[in-house]
Amino acid sequence: MDNKNLLEVKNLKKYFSTPGGMLHAVDNVTFNVEKGKTIGIVGESGCGKSTLGKTLMRLHTPTSGEILYKGTDIAGMPVKEFKMDYRSHIQMIFQDPYASLDPRMNVLQLIEEPIRVNNKNLARQEVTKRAQEMMELVGLARRLESSYPHELDGGRRQRIGIARALSLNPEFIVCDEPVSALDVSIQAQILNLLQDLQAERGLTYMFITHDMSVVKHISDDIAVMYLGQMIEKCSANEIFRDTIHPYSQALLSAIPIPNVHMKKDRMVLKGELTSPINPKACCRFAARCPYASDKCRAEEPVLREVRPKHLVACHFAEKFAK
Ligand code: SF4
Repeated sequence: MDNKNLLEVKNLKKYFSTPGGMLHAVDNVTFNVEKGKTIGIVGESGCGKSTLGKTLMRLHTPTSGEILYKGTDIAGMPVKEFKMDYRSHIQMIFQDPYASLDPRMNVLQLIEEPIRVNNKNLARQEVTKRAQEMMELVGLARRLESSYPHELDGGRRQRIGIARALSLNPEFIVCDEPVSALDVSIQAQILNLLQDLQAERGLTYMFITHDMSVVKHISDDIAVMYLGQMIEKCSANEIFRDTIHPYSQALLSAIPIPNVHMKKDRMVLKGELTSPINPKACCRFAARCPYASDKCRAEEPVLREVRPKHLVACHFAEKFAK
């Protein structure tokens, strides 16, 4: 493995059995993340981005494929061994901080909890000291120690979620829509906090969102997912400058421009979403793609390098590349 990569994911699949057949939530996804960098994973609801994050965290057992963390495959590792050796290295920040916090615990107890559970021999005073350090790190005032989640605003609740994730000193954090439930002004505060923490601690992020404008400033690379598959991946700068896949173009065209005098052509997608249950071997975007041809309906495109480090899964990618 290239030692710059903290994480290397190869042909990862996560299928769920449903009464109608196998739901291909994550289908043959391959990518890697360099240490200290951020990969943004974008796509609309149901594209499999959160399932991908939870599978990397081993909250779901992968159907097949490899998850190499510093060269060790954690995909098939028994959960007990994963929890013992890797859980503290890989943490997650959730979308809805309120739902992920126990309402009966105060701020200090909430941050102490993961420290205590993962360091059974640590003295009580040391657990409290570490939790207080975490509060300071994420900008939570000491006067809030005895406050309960319902007494705090969304931004402060998300700071608790970040403090809990950081309390185990992880290297890799899956941020699953961490600012989607927050007001725009608070979103910026949390994004800045995440960036500052990354610079200070050399953290590596996977940042999952449906909002392209949010992911723009925090990501080094961006991968676009559609119905369980990765359909485009390149640097963040390149995707905003020269996106190639028709679906990515549609996503980008939906970003609002903060200027009422500027007009933007929005690419409105028509057609039905293809079912992710037992999908046929074709382009999964064909039913909504304005450029779909017979080849698209008969053959599945593979993710391939169309430009240096710019991967696209479309039969006609060269035609759409500027
Ligand atoms: Fe559209 Fe065909 Fe490309 Fe799929 S393969 S995105 S249907 S042009």
